Amino acid sequence: MKPLSQKALQVKESSTLLITAKAKAMKAAGENIIAFTAGEPDFDTPEHIKQAASQAAWEGFTKYTASAGIPELRKAICEKLKNDNGLEYDPSQIVVSNGAKHALSNVFSSIINDGDEIIIPAPYWLTYPELIILAGGIPVTVMTSKSTGYKPTVEQLSAAITPKTKAIIINSPNNPSSAVYSKNELKVIADLAVKYNLYVISDEIYEMLIFDQSTPHISIASLGKEIFDRTIVINGYSKSYAMTGWRVGYSACSKQIADVIGNIQSHRTSNINTLAQKAALAAETGDKTCVYDMRDAFKARRDLMFNMVQEIPALDALYPECAFYVFADISSICGKSAYGTVINNGADFANLLLEKQKVAIVPCGDFGCDNHIRLSFALSEGDIIEGMNRIKSFVEGI
Ligand code: PMP
Repeated sequence: MKPLSQKALQVKESSTLLITAKAKAMKAAGENIIAFTAGEPDFDTPEHIKQAASQAAWEGFTKYTASAGIPELRKAICEKLKNDNGLEYDPSQIVVSNGAKHALSNVFSSIINDGDEIIIPAPYWLTYPELIILAGGIPVTVMTSKSTGYKPTVEQLSAAITPKTKAIIINSPNNPSSAVYSKNELKVIADLAVKYNLYVISDEIYEMLIFDQSTPHISIASLGKEIFDRTIVINGYSKSYAMTGWRVGYSACSKQIADVIGNIQSHRTSNINTLAQKAALAAETGDKTCVYDMRDAFKARRDLMFNMVQEIPALDALYPECAFYVFADISSICGKSAYGTVINNGADFANLLLEKQKVAIVPCGDFGCDNHIRLSFALSEGDIIEGMNRIKSFVEGI
């Protein structure tokens, strides 16, 4: 047989899916599993959003639409970007895609030439490097640490820039660290991008799930005309509106890039599902109370979980400012033996924890941080308490 695509063969299997699949199989076999692995809200999609999709189906809104999305949705997105983020776009600069993931995939295909380097501060969402590789690019990781709140310093970023650097990815609020970048931190990155003529890909998907207004969400694109022109903003409905399965996300950027993204999408997938477009329109233009209620529920769970995490010194965690993740450094126990085996990294910790205490967590090796784990608090308070007690007993046995 002839060899398969070199680029495609480099794409790794997702470790998150592996551990989730293992936990699911154990659950199906009757084991009492607590899973801290969810990367999505555990709430149902709000009623008015489902109604809009249902109505669209009954009204026969089931044919092809404009490939980049229906005009009224793109217009509503422009209004949101203007009101919430201070960004002025024309609807022709918005492409609605099958989730933020698809939007990102389109962006990388649009800007990357073979061998171009894209800087990604670690920890990062594990899909970025894979999409970059598929587009022919080279992911360049910049390792951050808890001392800087898991954000890169200007020195680190400058050191990573080469003549081949094409773009920097900024994900604020961040998955998995739950860090939010301040205006000053973004300004420094914006200046660097302008100085070195780089694009910035700003993934803002957790924007609405920030708990404390002392750390408001700021889009890097709002920090001046020069950075606005070179930033591609990515956002979507999955996390804020509990709509992960509907698959609606979007990119907003210069007309030049938006046209390229639109062309790619028109051949690869065409428009996203019509009913999901109407659902997203209802989400965007409807009452936001549902979002704030979910955010408040996550905040209460954050408090509960973080208090319990702090009782386990081996989990050195950053206080989560947003989203639904606790990101913890377990370096202090790496290299130690426990339960007859050595824990070398987050993956060993996760596998042993699942085996011994039936608790599933996400090891963060594929997020760029081998000695870290991610615990999702998108589950009930009862399960959080039970799961954290099990982790505590597990760690005490190390
Ligand atoms: N960006 C980040 C940082 C994410 O965590 C996720 C989902 N896990 C996405 C983008 C993709 O979201 P979706 O494709 O569901 O819109």
